Amino acid sequence: MMNLLALPLLLMATAAAPYHEGMRPVMGTFARVQIAGEGDGIRLAADAALDEIERLDRVLSHYKPESDLSRLNATGGEAAVVVVRDLYRVLERSLHFYRISDGAFDVTVAPLVRLWKKRAQPPQGEELQQVRDAVGSDLVRLDGDRHTVRYNGRDVEIELGAIGKGYAVDCAVEVLRTHHVSSAVIDLGRTLYCMGSPVTGDGWPVGIAHPLDPEAVAGVVRLINKAVSTSGNYESPHTVAGKRVGHIIDPRTGHPVANQVLSVTVVCDDATSADALSTAVFVLGVERGMRLIDRVPGVEGIIFYRAKDNGYGHRASNGFDAEWVDDQFAR
Ligand code: ADP
Ligand code: MG
Repeated sequence: MMNLLALPLLLMATAAAPYHEGMRPVMGTFARVQIAGEGDGIRLAADAALDEIERLDRVLSHYKPESDLSRLNATGGEAAVVVVRDLYRVLERSLHFYRISDGAFDVTVAPLVRLWKKRAQPPQGEELQQVRDAVGSDLVRLDGDRHTVRYNGRDVEIELGAIGKGYAVDCAVEVLRTHHVSSAVIDLGRTLYCMGSPVTGDGWPVGIAHPLDPEAVAGVVRLINKAVSTSGNYESPHTVAGKRVGHIIDPRTGHPVANQVLSVTVVCDDATSADALSTAVFVLGVERGMRLIDRVPGVEGIIFYRAKDNGYGHRASNGFDAEWVDDQFAR
């Protein structure tokens, strides 16, 4: 069982008031729904939200061979494939983030992710180039009239690891709304949405992990109708030729990201954007990443980065508001 305290984002304990909590393993992590109140209606709403996340996993997973995405991956290089609405919408959003991040966010990195997994030496030359030729969201053609997707190349493959959880959270929030829920938190790994406020207090308290110790809380943000997502290399990354390599790839080099960034936390109105942007900023690095945060309206964020002598520093956008546990973060 995964240690929930180790998650870089965690909902802090809320005051003793009736809450219903539902949890299920899904998408390689745990989905947790916490709703203010109690009773059958609330239990039903929580179950419906968790069902919705499971439904989206069956559409968007690239691990499940029978998912809609796997079907697209299998045949999208040969002919245009009609896809279900949810998959089409996630791909539309993915291409949007590809454009606004100058290619740093790219759902076609799947073959590169696989290339770097489980190997002793970094891929080079011809081997790397061949895989890179199949990477680039420009190779994905969407047709909005027919709802079809076509890959320009037989080896093109998509995975939605950096945006699918956010999309699933947003859909689950919609489900809670149809059940007239107005105070809840949906937590899917490192991507959360906070609906309304908890019964007591202003805003849901969400802990941001310390950049060097994911078990420690560096600060707390209080969120009302906001999403938050963190990207970082917290999971013990594996090593290739003695160098630590993380799970986020820089599509512009074909290599795992090797900049100074330790973690990125993004706060905005929807979980799809928070999920995608936290990954994009992680790839872009401190300067260009912060410029992206500043450029997109309604987005706030903080970047922790490695500094000299095993130290670290941080850069936050002007509107990023947190209560810091450690004074050194306060400006
Ligand atoms: P996590 O899902 O682990 O919390 P992210 O949201 O940052 O973290 O997504 C990372 C996942 O996205 C990777 O495991 C990989 O599957 C995929 N990925 C890696 N690099 C990129 C990239 N440059 N753009 C889009 N997706 C990526
Ligand atoms: Mg992400």
